[in-house]
Amino acid sequence: MYHCHWIALILSVVAARVAAVKIGIVGGGIGGASTALYIRRLFGDDADIELFEMGRLGGRLAVEELDGHRYEAGGSVIHTKNRCMMELIESLGLQTKPAMGGTFGLWNGRELVFTSSAWSAITSAKLLWRYGSDVFRLRRLLSATLAKFDGIYSLLDSGAAYDTVEDLIMAMDPSLVKLTGLPLSQYLKLSGFQEGFISELVTAVTLNNYGQRPDRLHALVGLVGLAGAGDELTSVLGGNYQVVERAVQQSGATLRSERVLAVEFTGESFLVTTGWAAEPDSRQTRSYDIVVVAAPQTEDQPSRVEWLGLPAPLQFPGTYHQLSVTFVEAQAMEMSALAARNVANMAYTRWYNRSPPDLRKIEHTEL
Ligand SMILES: Cc1cc2nc3c(=O)[nH]c(=O)nc-3n(C[C@H](O)[C@H](O)[C@H](O)COP(=O)(O)OP(=O)(O)OC[C@H]3O[C@@H](n4cnc5c(N)ncnc54)[C@H](O)[C@@H]3O)c2cc1C
Repeated sequence: MYHCHWIALILSVVAARVAAVKIGIVGGGIGGASTALYIRRLFGDDADIELFEMGRLGGRLAVEELDGHRYEAGGSVIHTKNRCMMELIESLGLQTKPAMGGTFGLWNGRELVFTSSAWSAITSAKLLWRYGSDVFRLRRLLSATLAKFDGIYSLLDSGAAYDTVEDLIMAMDPSLVKLTGLPLSQYLKLSGFQEGFISELVTAVTLNNYGQRPDRLHALVGLVGLAGAGDELTSVLGGNYQVVERAVQQSGATLRSERVLAVEFTGESFLVTTGWAAEPDSRQTRSYDIVVVAAPQTEDQPSRVEWLGLPAPLQFPGTYHQLSVTFVEAQAMEMSALAARNVANMAYTRWYNRSPPDLRKIEHTEL
């Protein structure tokens, strides 16, 4: 009898040594999907990965289909300096295309006060005429800021990891942390930019990208938003959400289309309870060695996870800003090809509370 116990014990030890580490990932957006893929690349068959997604894979990378045409409705532009994303796209065998093309205009609620041209030299001349040298100074400022962001890749390559976002930004360049302490509008004014430039072009871009004015955004996120209106932008042919879909596929993770209700630390493992709050019968609990939560957890998020058994409570300060994406369908004007090249195919406005029309962005670019 004792002999049998020993055999059973030895078998369980052997099993424990060869069993893959069970990893549960909550969230099927780019965060969760890339985590699954990188874990697989690093640990191969030593990881048994399960990924929970309560909605559709992609999260805030999403497309909407209207009248048989597909449009980006979430994260639409990828900066080519984003080395992680660019490498991911290439390694997943996806193709890119320029994120935005064509011309844009600034709409003041009654008329277009500025329109770019299909010829970049003419656009530059028009910008210089309206805003003086501020546009070129802003370009220089953005290049300098992006160069600081670039510092993160060598740190990541050397195996560095950070506990908080502040630590991560600090490691890139301490001057970037200071930018989080003042609004974009104030920072630009202190840096000598003209009021008209900030209230017109800068405001139009931040409203378009974040639905917020430059006095409501801190300077770091504001500069990131302004870089997202530059010309080094790309997107995935057919939709950015495919990065998520392919990453999950190639990671070999088991996809569980379930909502995670709670994560409990028992001292040895993590118990993940899934199901739908209104349906007690739908609840299931599974055990994992490691759990990665890649989904928003602030107080305002109805789908946030309940954390149990942790030695200290986790803090998730702040709330999310809700952004609406409006698609406007309109009849294209009849015009000559030459005239069409000079008509703004994207309109930004800073006067977005004025009606009619409440026009924030018109994008004709199909995927
Ligand atoms: C309109 C819009 C435009 C944007 N434009 C750009 C852009 O042009 N360029 C850019 O770089 N970024 C842009 N962003 C930001 C970018 O899209 C996001 O930062 C990024 O997609 C977030 O990815 P994530 O994986 O962190 O989170 P998410 O994409 O939010 O993924 C989290 C996932 O977790 C799931 N989930 C949540 N709770 C649970 C639960 N309890 N159980 C199971 N699943 C759960 C959600 O359904 C979701 O799919 C934009 C965002 C929006 C909304």
